[in-house]
Amino acid sequence: MALKVYIETYGCQMNVSDSELVARLLEDDAHRVQESIEGADVVLVNTCAVREGAEQRVLGQLASWKRLKTERPELILGVLGCMSAHLSSKITGSLPHVDLVMGPDQYRKLPGVIRDLVVGREAQVILTRRDKTENYDEIYPSRKAGVNAWVTVMRGCDNMCTFCIVPFTRGRERSRSVASVLEECRRLAAEGFREVTLLGQNVNSYRDPSWRPAAPVGGAAVAAGESDGARFAELLAAVGEVPGLERVRFTSPHPKDFSPAMIREMATNPKICKHMHLPMQAGNDRVLSLMRRDYTGAEFLALVDEARAQLPEIGFSTDIIVGFPTETAAEFEDTLRLVERVRFDSAFTFEYSPREGAPSAGWTDDVPAAEKNRRLRLLVDLQHRITKEKAAACRGRSYEVLIESPSKKSDLELMGRTTCNRVVVVPADPRWRIGSLVTARVDEVSSFTLRGVVTQLEGRPLA
Ligand code: SF4
Repeated sequence: MALKVYIETYGCQMNVSDSELVARLLEDDAHRVQESIEGADVVLVNTCAVREGAEQRVLGQLASWKRLKTERPELILGVLGCMSAHLSSKITGSLPHVDLVMGPDQYRKLPGVIRDLVVGREAQVILTRRDKTENYDEIYPSRKAGVNAWVTVMRGCDNMCTFCIVPFTRGRERSRSVASVLEECRRLAAEGFREVTLLGQNVNSYRDPSWRPAAPVGGAAVAAGESDGARFAELLAAVGEVPGLERVRFTSPHPKDFSPAMIREMATNPKICKHMHLPMQAGNDRVLSLMRRDYTGAEFLALVDEARAQLPEIGFSTDIIVGFPTETAAEFEDTLRLVERVRFDSAFTFEYSPREGAPSAGWTDDVPAAEKNRRLRLLVDLQHRITKEKAAACRGRSYEVLIESPSKKSDLELMGRTTCNRVVVVPADPRWRIGSLVTARVDEVSSFTLRGVVTQLEGRPLA
């Protein structure tokens, strides 16, 4: 029986990618995935447990959908994703109108579970068990046409940062095979995608021991039969070879897992975008150690300096938490100093809040809310100043821009990104369109926005 399915997605890009995977599994079972909840027979919420705010929003949404279930008892309502792994008993206890709760390693079972629910098998199917090997290797997600596609290359995380519940909701690290990632990338290129972003919770700990390179990677010669498989540098190189793909990005890497080969590959391979999202989290060594981040401020800086030495135009973004348990005001100053020294292009900044299930949740959250807020404002002000200064320095320079979408503010403009992940707005024009690679000279900078004049299209001067 073909059903109309609506999937609502919360949280990170990994969840968006998982929803595309779920869509493929359901479409292969003859169901139709639609954009709106109107008239849907199956409503699935793909949830995020990383931040409490997102969790509360999902619980509120699920409660509000009780009305739908009252009006149409045959409607199937399901909860997928990290919250399922984290809060299954809370969901089933307080929201009895939910029919199924399924963790991120069990999606292959979803078509069968939906079939069971249709024929009246008992509701509240709870399948949240983690699977140490599931990587959905040969399932190619169902996506809308576009310019950039997100390609999950590994799942889970072995790092156990003390503030994070990902290792508990997503399980241990496991990578897809290079062959399967390449097959997905070839299909994407054939569908017209020009950029892929390789995704993983700890993407640069990627490993495929079975892979044998056709050529040396990252400057290191590999003798026949001596390879120990592919690590992330080899994967980048292999994806960069896929015809039709112009750009390869990745997120999120862990600073401790950058190898010299990976930086060399980024520096020498024109397809690999010159941008690193490098989560710093804090600048003080004692706090970093408490967070179990496995690097010091000096080591983080050394990585940034090494990357800049080889890729002078590289862009950096980061994640930073302020007010971690026991962080003093003086230790927070180390974070400000490191931010000032690195000069990130942008930063996602957060006040610490304990997450149930994470190791730090049992610690006293002893930095007062007002102090966390003070630190956050100082950090945001500093980062805004740096971002503006770096944007102003772009005036008069030319960048290759892959056009991604209409601009948010005007139908007369399009927006795209540079290789170093700067957003540039260009005028709309019949000669270029979404998916075009143009060269734009930045002639206007307002706060954070760069506006450019197009001077080349697909590498050729404009006629
Ligand atoms: S590296 Fe740390 S913060 Fe990132 S997913 Fe793993 S445990 Fe969480």
